[in-house]
Amino acid sequence: MEKNLTCQAIVLANKKWGDLHRLVTLLSPTLGLFDAVVYGGRKGKLAGGIEPFSRGTFYLYSNRPKKGYTLKDVDLIAGDGTIKGEIERLYIAHALCEIVIRMHGGDYGELFHLTTAAISLLDDPAIEAKRVLILFITRFIKIMGLEGDLNQCPQCGREYQGEESLSFNRTLNSPCCHSCGDVGGEVAWTLGPGARRYLLYIHPLEEREAVLVPLSETATIRLVRYMLRYLTTILGSPLKSLNTALLWEV
Ligand SMILES: [Zn+2]
Repeated sequence: MEKNLTCQAIVLANKKWGDLHRLVTLLSPTLGLFDAVVYGGRKGKLAGGIEPFSRGTFYLYSNRPKKGYTLKDVDLIAGDGTIKGEIERLYIAHALCEIVIRMHGGDYGELFHLTTAAISLLDDPAIEAKRVLILFITRFIKIMGLEGDLNQCPQCGREYQGEESLSFNRTLNSPCCHSCGDVGGEVAWTLGPGARRYLLYIHPLEEREAVLVPLSETATIRLVRYMLRYLTTILGSPLKSLNTALLWEV
């Protein structure tokens, strides 16, 4: 069956396809996660319109299952260009895209909303980029149905005390009380009371409100490392896009 399709989407990745073409990986609320070929895309009029993090309306031609999708045209929403001007924002933006591509699941409407919101926030110089990463990972884990309970231990059911530090259980992929943890006393896996309060506080907030909630630089870096470690156990291996960003090494 051959047909033309139009969808909202964001570009997550873009790579060479043969000598002349490019293959873009798109996330759309309606079509999900998929690749589309851009014929002559490296030199043609779509060349600038298919870079990672580009958002807008995508016009596709589908010849499934034989050839998949072809990208015919695109109407982009202009970004500020802040992401590409700062190495930390660029690393984080690539990491978000890699996370979405590697998990390949969840509700695509929710995932599209979260990913575009996070990319827009990273493109705003007034927003602290690391807090966007923390927010993205917590909400991503929730969309995947793997969210841990920060009020009571998922193993023994005991409610946490206000000033209690949590441990982690790698079999459950979840924070838990110290008796139920399987990570020893490893400090890297400890979620302190301040970090837990912060995560509970931002939980119901809209994305922009959430990343505007203050968090000290030290607490932010500690929580970024914790969330990346949490995510790495879910993914099964570290993120390629953050391997050279020593700050967050897990
Ligand atoms: Zn427990």
